[in-house]
Amino acid sequence: MLTTNFINRELADRISEEIGTPCYVYDEGSLRGAADQVMAFPNAYGLTARFAMKACPNANILRLFRKKGLKIDASSIYEAERALLAGYEASEISLSTQEFPDDDSLASIVEKGMSVNACSLYQLERYGKRFPNTKVGLRFNPGLGSGGTNRTNVGGPASSFGIWHESKEDAKELAKKYGLNVFRIHTHIGSGSDPEVWIRAVSLSLDMVRYFEEAIYLNLGGGYKVGRIAGEATTDLQVIGAPMKEAFEAFGQETGRKIHLEVEPGSYLVANSCVLLSSIQDLTSTGERGYDFIKLDSGMTENTRPSMYGSQHEIQLLVPEGEKRIEKPYIVVGHCCESGDILTPAPADPEALHPRTLPEARIGDLVAIGGVGAYCSSMATKNYNSFPECPEALLRIDGSVDLMRKRQSLQEVVANETQIAF
Ligand SMILES: *Cc1c(COP(=O)(O)O)cnc(C)c1O
Repeated sequence: MLTTNFINRELADRISEEIGTPCYVYDEGSLRGAADQVMAFPNAYGLTARFAMKACPNANILRLFRKKGLKIDASSIYEAERALLAGYEASEISLSTQEFPDDDSLASIVEKGMSVNACSLYQLERYGKRFPNTKVGLRFNPGLGSGGTNRTNVGGPASSFGIWHESKEDAKELAKKYGLNVFRIHTHIGSGSDPEVWIRAVSLSLDMVRYFEEAIYLNLGGGYKVGRIAGEATTDLQVIGAPMKEAFEAFGQETGRKIHLEVEPGSYLVANSCVLLSSIQDLTSTGERGYDFIKLDSGMTENTRPSMYGSQHEIQLLVPEGEKRIEKPYIVVGHCCESGDILTPAPADPEALHPRTLPEARIGDLVAIGGVGAYCSSMATKNYNSFPECPEALLRIDGSVDLMRKRQSLQEVVANETQIAF
């Protein structure tokens, strides 16, 4: 499967003329398809599926997903407010955050119905003091983690996310002290695509549900791995979901408790629904014992993942139809004055250069970088080197293209700077 297969030279030409490059191009059909897959997640006693909006928070994507029936996982109070602006109801939003908001901004949304997962004992205490005798979710670190790299692993002793599982008694005590009903248990460990790891995570999480007897929801977070390049596996939700469903059923038979499943994927819903359309703006070489470099008009300002994680993205040089070109190995780099701004690192090793075989490149060629729907537009080092925030477009089902976000102007880049007299 090619992650760039919804873009072709003709469409790329059209977008580069109408909007210019670089430009993120999202594919409505892929977004809808991924949402359908998530909404069909196997479950025993009901399902709530949330979009972890930190992956890609554009309001148009949120609105499309809301129509599909997806709720929201917000990872900061700002995201929760952004979801409200996009038309979500507070009751459709669940907050699991590393930075607990101030009481007033939290109250304004909690009083409208947003639910909160306390992610530390301190957060639980703060929540209990401000909202005694209400309901709360608890995010636990079950002691098990799994992720592509250390930087995407969000469970286990090296991860700060959630209440450490051995502190469950303390959590129960605190909840009791403030009359809180622990209605939901939450774990999110970044489990990848291995069904064995998932089933272990589910079993540890159900143990936590057993311990908190009032819990009626178990939220297993996201972390469904998406292959962004040939050779990387994409999670089959039906395959990993089936044993999870059985575990919920067995738990139901054992305890009489019919636990409602929540999942909250980010990557799975958006990763392969977007390409970054870019132009080749320069070609350089470091000679026979060096490399041939392709320099794009985009880079870590649009996609930081290769330099952060050594992640691999498909790179398709959109050769005009009918043109034959020989292939050559290239290092593809971004436009920032920063040696880490590279799109072809070695897998999982952002420090090492790993040439990619591509058709012979010419200045002005269009290039599509695949798999950039998740944690690219939302996580890039935007405005570094004062490059403006990149526009986002949506390829509609009927083949037309709608702008979802304009390119930033220089005035907008400097808008918050003040003028001091010297
Ligand atoms: C980031 C995050 C997710 C989504 O993770 P993906 O790997 O993008 O699926 C889900 N839940 C929580 C709490 C998160 O922080």
